[in-house]
Amino acid sequence: MSHVFQPAPIPTVPVVGDARRFPVRRIYCVGRNYVDHAIEMGATGREAPFFFMKPADAVLPAEGEAAVEMHYPTLTKSLHHEVELVCAIGKGGRDIAAADALGHVFGYAVGLDMTRRDLQNEMKKQGRPWSIGKGFDESAPIGAITPAAQVPGIMKAPIALDVNGNVRQLSHIDKLIWSVAETIEHLSRAWALQAGDLIYTGTPAGVDAVVAGDVLEARIEGLSPLRVRIV
Ligand code: MN
Repeated sequence: MSHVFQPAPIPTVPVVGDARRFPVRRIYCVGRNYVDHAIEMGATGREAPFFFMKPADAVLPAEGEAAVEMHYPTLTKSLHHEVELVCAIGKGGRDIAAADALGHVFGYAVGLDMTRRDLQNEMKKQGRPWSIGKGFDESAPIGAITPAAQVPGIMKAPIALDVNGNVRQLSHIDKLIWSVAETIEHLSRAWALQAGDLIYTGTPAGVDAVVAGDVLEARIEGLSPLRVRIV
C-alpha cells in the first residue's frame, strides 16, 4: 500500500529480557482508583471505574536504567506526577470476564500519568474533556515491560514515587479499588481490547507538582524502575 506521506512510526516500549519491543496501540487510563487518592481529589464513596485515553504516541519509554528526559509541557504551571501500574495487553477481546482477564495480559510496567493539573481542573470545572490536561505529548513515561509470568507477586507489590530522592507517593497495588482483572472486565465492555493496548491503572495519594530539573524515580517491586528527568 502506498501512502500520501510516510506514516508515523509505531510507538514501542522495551521488554525486559527480550530484544523485541512491545508495539503500542492505545493507552487507556483509569481515574480515581485508590481510595486515598480519590479522597484527595474530592470523591466520596465507591463509584464505578471511569476511563480516559492518551494518544499512543504520548508514551515516553525509558531505555534501561538511564533517566529519560521529559520536556516540561506548554500551557501549564502545575505539572503533576501520578505513579501507576501499567498493564500491557497481549491478547485482545470483548466482554472479558474478570476471572479470565489476566490471561489477556502480556506484562506489567511502571508508568507515570503526567498531568497538567491546572488545565485538568479548569476543564472539570467547565464540564469539558480532560484531553488537554491528560493527553499531551510525552505525558505517558513508561519503564520496560516485564512479562507477567516473571512477576507473580505483582498484585501485592509496593508502588512508590520519589522526586529528587524524597518519597512523594507510597502504597501497595492491593489498595486498588478496581483490580487489574476488574478493570479489564469493565474496559472490554466499552471497547474491544487488542494486543498492544496499555492500561494505566490509577495512582495512589501524594500527587504533586514537579519543575524543570527534578528527577523522578517510579518503582513497583519486581518491575524495571522508571527514571524521568524534567527538562
Ligand atoms: Mn492517573
